[in-house]
Formats: sequence, C-alpha cells, structure tokens
Amino acid sequence: MRLSRAFLPTLKETPAEATIVSHRLMLRAGLVRQTSAGIYAWLPLGWRVLQRVSQIVREEQDRAGAQEVLMPTIQSAELWRQSGRYDGYGKEMLRLIDRHDREMLYGPTNEEMITDIFRSYAKSYRDLPRNLYHIQWKFRDEVRPRFGVMRGREFLMKDAYSFDITAEAAQHAYRQMFFAYLRTFQRLGLKAVPMRADTGPIGGNLSHEFIVLAETGESAVFFDSAFEASDWAGTVTDYDDIPALKSGFDQVTAMYAATDEMHDAAAFEALPAERRREGRGIEVGHIFYFGTKYSAAMGLSVPGQDGKPVIPEMGSYGIGVSRLVGALIEANHDEAGIIWPDSVAPYAAAILNLKQGDASTDAICEQLHTALGDNAVYDDRSERAGVKFADADLMGFPWQAIVGPRGAANGVVELKRRATGERVEVSVEEALARIRG
Ligand code: ATP
Ligand code: MG
Repeated sequence: MRLSRAFLPTLKETPAEATIVSHRLMLRAGLVRQTSAGIYAWLPLGWRVLQRVSQIVREEQDRAGAQEVLMPTIQSAELWRQSGRYDGYGKEMLRLIDRHDREMLYGPTNEEMITDIFRSYAKSYRDLPRNLYHIQWKFRDEVRPRFGVMRGREFLMKDAYSFDITAEAAQHAYRQMFFAYLRTFQRLGLKAVPMRADTGPIGGNLSHEFIVLAETGESAVFFDSAFEASDWAGTVTDYDDIPALKSGFDQVTAMYAATDEMHDAAAFEALPAERRREGRGIEVGHIFYFGTKYSAAMGLSVPGQDGKPVIPEMGSYGIGVSRLVGALIEANHDEAGIIWPDSVAPYAAAILNLKQGDASTDAICEQLHTALGDNAVYDDRSERAGVKFADADLMGFPWQAIVGPRGAANGVVELKRRATGERVEVSVEEALARIRG
C-alpha cells in the first residue's frame, strides 16, 4: 500500500473528547471515526486490525469445535416475548417499528434467535452437542458510551451458544470455551485473567469474565499473582478429552481471581500477602452456563435416548471483538503511538523512503514493497523524514524498513523494531526475512 495513494489519515492534535490513551491513539492514528455518540466508522487501518482480531477469534472457536453462522442484526420482538426478556431488557435495547407496525429491535445479544433456529432443526438427542457462533454487530443503547470503541453503542461481538443433553455435557462445553478463550487472548498477545462473575440478566449459575489488566479498566479486580506467570492456554490440547479439560479447569479456577462484584475479601486475604494483586481491568470476554433458561421458556426439547423429551442445557460465550482493539492498544503503546503485536498488526512493516526521488532509495523501496506485497505500507510521500518516522511510530507497525541514500548506495536498509526501538543495518534480503518472521 502506497501511502501517497492510501486513505490512512493521521491527526497531529490530540482530540479533546478522548480521555484514555487507546481512544486518543485510535483517533490520531486514523483507525476509527465517530459518526454519532458511541457509533464508529472503521477506517482502513482499524478495519484491518478488526479483521485480524476476528480471524484469531474465529480460528480458536473452530478449533474448539464451534461452527460459524451469521445471524442478522435486526430481530423480531416476538422472539424476545417468548423468552420473557422483551419488557425487562429496558432502555439499552434499541426498539424499532417496521412499516407494517411490527415491533423489531437491533439485537443486543442472540440467545433467543439461536434457540429459535436450533429448535427448528434439532430432532433428537443425536443432534447434540452443538456449538454455534457468529461475529456480528450488536447494539446496546448505553447511557454513557465512552472510551471510544471500548464502550460503544454499536460494537462487534463474537457470541457462541452451546446445546447439550446433560448438565455434565454442558459444563464440558463451557470448559471448551474457557480454554478457547485462554488460547485466543494468548495469541492476541494479551494476558487475560478468568474471573468468577455474576451471571446478571442472562441468568444461570456458572460464569467467568476474562479481564485484561489495565489502569483505565472499568472493573476493579483482585487476583493471585500466579496468573501473571503461567501459560494456562497451553495446558489443554485435546478439546474432546473430558477429564483433562476438567482437571485443567479446576486447576486454573482454584486460583483466586474476582472482580469487585464477586470479591470475597476473606478468601483473598488467605493468600500470602506477596501474591495478592489488586488493580483494574477491561472485560474482553464473558462466558455463561445457564442451563435450560431459554430452552425451557422457548419450548426447545428433543427426544432423549429413552424416547422421553429432554430440554437441552445451554451456555453462551461472548468476546468483545471491537473492544479488544482498544484493549490491545491500552496494553501496547508508548509516548509515540501504538505498538501492534505481530499477530494483529494491520501491516507487518512500514517502508520509509527518506529521499523520495533518489534513484537508489526508490529502487530499494520498490523492491521491498513488491516483495512484501499486502503486508507493508510504503511511505512514498514527499515528506520530511521526521514526519515519516512520527507517522510510522504512531500507526505502530511492528517493523520499519528505513531506506536512506547512504545505506541504499551500499544495498543496506536500516531495520527498526517498533517495540524495542532497536535498529540494525541489514541487507534487503535480511530485512525481508526478519519482517516475514
Ligand atoms: P459490560 O459489563 O462491560 O457492560 P456486559 O457484561 O454487559 O459488558 P456481555 O453481555 O458479557 O457484556 O457481552 C460480551 C462482551 O461484549 C463483553 O465481555 C465485552 O467485551 C463486550 N461488550 C459488551 N458491551 C460492550 C460495549 N458497550 N462496547 C463494546 N464492547 C462491549
Ligand atoms: Mg459481561
């Protein structure tokens, strides 16, 4: 992508409305543009990151055995009357009337719709277990949308829904998602701690929130420092191994971790003082096991092995995909801008031509650009070097290939790693090899 032809707008001034760093940087680096309160257009750079985050979420859902669908954003109020949630949901639900005076709504979540779809097809116990998910925009008319995409009104969520014949099977489905979440956040380069959570209006009795630690987070959190060190995502590899998943889950959840809503001061104080951690965090995922709440209310039932009707046990599993983009920046930035982890970077590298129009710098930059293809941004603008450095730092590409006339004459490129600031002089081939990882 040539910067001279790209729509990658950056802002010099810090927008006054942005109070936290991720929001400021998302606006300054041209990732999003607010179109109404809590509603954002995703500009090319932000959209690429959102797609990369979505793809990691998708791969880990698929790996855990869930299957992707796409349900609509607009739902009928009728379905929500069947579950009994329509009147109770309150002002967060955006309600709409169509031309035939039918009550519709912009979905804040999809338990009702998926239960309706599943009940139309499930004919016997043999059609279970199943886990279906989609990555789709949600709307919640938050009283106080703030912190940019972190608490928007329209936001992108991955939501999965599991259907099982027994409570034990449903708990296994819950643990599959639990480990899928640990793996997902690890691949995103985030440390997300699973914390016991309140089940809230979704209902049910088993629930965890996945919290990324950040000073600007909205939740107060208390946890065992053992979470800081360990790679829990790697402890389970076979999602069908029921005992292994259970023991892995018991091991992780035995460690103390809770948000203020569920905080148990006595249990926390029982930890040795040096292991007690208190702080703030951002909720990036939330999983629930709620049994037959929706299946019973909406008449989902299948003949069991003995022919008698069974009401499936369900769970639902959310990830805030668009919120994650903000959380990633909260966790990865410095004074100069964003520092994308390799796994979600919009482009792996920026190629900085320090002397546009110089035969040797132009030639090397073109060579790098051709070789890296869609994985690099080529800053071919007629701008001062300082402007190019500042923009590349702000937009946060993991690598900068800096091409000046002195090095170019000798076929040398200066390669800068954004995260560490480390710079090395290397050949074009070596630069390409490092950028490609
Ligand atoms: P919160 O407590 O932050 O309001 P929630 O508990 O209402 O969130 P869930 O119903 O658990 O949200 O939704 C699943 C995930 O969707 C959350 O873990 C969060 O990451 C994301 N999410 C929820 N509300 C928003 C929002 N207004 N903007 C962006 N992401 C959101
Ligand atoms: Mg939640």
